[in-house]
Amino acid sequence: MAVQGNVTFDPLAFAEPVKDPEISEIIDLETGAFLDVVSFISGRRYDRLISERMSISESLANTPRYGCALCATPVYLVASREKRFFFRHSREDGSCPSVTRSLLSREDIKALKYRGQRESLAHRVVKERIVRSLSADPSNEKILVEKHWRSIREPASRRQPDVQAITVHGRVAFEAQLSTTFLDVVAGRRTFYRDEGALLVWIMAEFDPNYRRLTTDDLLFPNNSNILVVDEETTVLSESTGTFYLRAHFRVPEIDSGAIQDRWKSEIIAFRDLTANLDTQTAWAFDYSGQSEQLLKQEKESTESRDDDLRERICSFWIGRNHHTPGGVSTEEAWLSLIGELSARGVTPPANERYDRAVTGLMNGILSAREKQPVGWDFKHLVEVAHRICGGYPEHALAMGFALRIYGCEELLVSRDKSKKWEKRARLLKEAIRAGDQRYLPDQDSLPFLKFMFPEVGEKIERFLASRLAQSNF
Ligand SMILES: [Zn+2]
Repeated sequence: MAVQGNVTFDPLAFAEPVKDPEISEIIDLETGAFLDVVSFISGRRYDRLISERMSISESLANTPRYGCALCATPVYLVASREKRFFFRHSREDGSCPSVTRSLLSREDIKALKYRGQRESLAHRVVKERIVRSLSADPSNEKILVEKHWRSIREPASRRQPDVQAITVHGRVAFEAQLSTTFLDVVAGRRTFYRDEGALLVWIMAEFDPNYRRLTTDDLLFPNNSNILVVDEETTVLSESTGTFYLRAHFRVPEIDSGAIQDRWKSEIIAFRDLTANLDTQTAWAFDYSGQSEQLLKQEKESTESRDDDLRERICSFWIGRNHHTPGGVSTEEAWLSLIGELSARGVTPPANERYDRAVTGLMNGILSAREKQPVGWDFKHLVEVAHRICGGYPEHALAMGFALRIYGCEELLVSRDKSKKWEKRARLLKEAIRAGDQRYLPDQDSLPFLKFMFPEVGEKIERFLASRLAQSNF
């Protein structure tokens, strides 16, 4: 049914927008925020929108409330005959690209909106604060507002920063950012100013770490996790002290259970005390990345020293225990407690506790090589241990071979191998392993334990297993 003539609307119902409005987005000229027209209209009650329509029209003459998102021309609210609403430019000269919006790329639209946002009152206020702060400090010279910056190398290339000045950090371009929705539009500027030997500094009007847009993070993380804000408080401070101050918000790293955790901090800092770097185009108050590296290094060192300590306690226990008697309750407890520490460290020990093949074989065999004398078995010479491992624990034969070489036992073995039995066995063993004899394939399950207890041997076994795996894939 076609709607004819006037439609009477329930004043308490929500207003309705026209279908497919030509101006689909408007900018709040005070805050610089963008608003979707359909949600703007359909989110308001009819009676309230009618009164708001009046004040929007009244504001046009002096301080327009809303503008077209694409051309920033002030707009007013119009109702169709069916009492559906839409926005119209206050000056309609056909220059607004919204008519041909479908031909614009997303980048074009963003660039237009970015330009529009710079017309907003909020943007002008930040810019003005930057100028006031810079002017208050006599160390700043040649402060220019919205003036072209012509490239020294390529005179055809130029930019127009919000504010520019010669400062203690050299020539600096300041860009005021509101919501930083348009970072990608302006990202190319970093290169421009770097090539100019100048610094680009982003200034925000405000910053709330708990309410960050993803695009604010684009600004935050490349700047060593620092955000710079010039607000009314810092501006007044700059004016009263004659030193350009700003507020820095930054993340402070802390170690929590071995990983970096951050908390936010902010402080007022003099512009001259910022650390500026032209290569990275950064200016920051707190060295987040340096601090986190330092913390991670310390954490690594303390983990390593804790590991060394645990490793040595396990070895001493193993060397000191009496393997003939099962051991009293306290011995058992001491061992279980060491194994518990190992698990807490994230190393899964082989199952079956102390008499497990893996533990016994590896500890007796490799520890004997390390100590250059039999450990855990009643042998007189190391060469006997080597024979025992090869015969009784073939899955650790390769680990034993590596250990004998790593701990420099070869001469000792030769001196106790008059019959050359070991020499022959070692040769046959090498050939068998090379031929892929499965009996000598190192035990995968005890690898974490081996790697922790004897890292040099463990790494070699791990590499061997990886290359075996790669070969079998062909
Ligand atoms: Zn427009």
